[in-house]
Amino acid sequence: MTKKLIVGNWKMNGSLASNAELLDAVREGCAAGTAADVAFCVPAPYLAQLQGALAGSRLDWGAQDCSAHDAGAYTGEVSALMLREFGCRYVIVGHSERRQQHHESDDLVALKARRALAAGVTPIVCVGETLADREAGRTEFVVKRQLSAVIHAVGHCSSELVVAYEPVWAIGTGCTATPQQAQAVHAVLRAQLRAANVNTSHNRILYGGSMNAANAAELLAQPDIDGGLIGGASLKAADFLQIIASCPTAASV
Ligand code: PEP
Repeated sequence: MTKKLIVGNWKMNGSLASNAELLDAVREGCAAGTAADVAFCVPAPYLAQLQGALAGSRLDWGAQDCSAHDAGAYTGEVSALMLREFGCRYVIVGHSERRQQHHESDDLVALKARRALAAGVTPIVCVGETLADREAGRTEFVVKRQLSAVIHAVGHCSSELVVAYEPVWAIGTGCTATPQQAQAVHAVLRAQLRAANVNTSHNRILYGGSMNAANAAELLAQPDIDGGLIGGASLKAADFLQIIASCPTAASV
């Protein structure tokens, strides 16, 4: 079994003081070891804080977006090379909030993923259908189209991708996909990665969308769910630690 990966997506939340409190508590809670790898994806101004606070710990950190360019006249953007300088292990690309609010296309997301990989930062590529897509029976078509753009752009490096299946209707709504709904889509994504690349042993496919302390165990027990991308529940140390503790160990599967 692949070791699970639990990633907190803080979105645009935090302050130096509240971050320090949260990081201390999670670091303390993970000190004795965890069944999962754990990371935080945070707003760019806090990367230096995480670099300092998590140095020497088992916890990784990352960003929530990166530019499709390496440098130049792109005011307001942050390149993957810059993220690498802050020790970022991960960067989220293609989160549905960016696809919707910033009109990011599949092709742009794919370019961002390619830049991240070239800089040595692992992209967490978000895919997911809207409620209208699901009700129209288009879930598989949409997630495959979104992932296919990235696979096409990164070629043989697709074995390095982390993919997050995040149904748009489940994000921040309290309306979680059932374990069966999530597993079905994860199996589709796994098959797509396998068809694109024989070496898929590194790929982890995370579920995101109102995962919390109460529903995590059942979701994380699904064979193709390799971890979680957690929004709201990652802002409360006790809840985030409970999700991490819900990960089955290799021996228990
Ligand atoms: C997210 O923003 O990636 C997410 C999954 O949010 P939430 O857990 O709050 O639904």
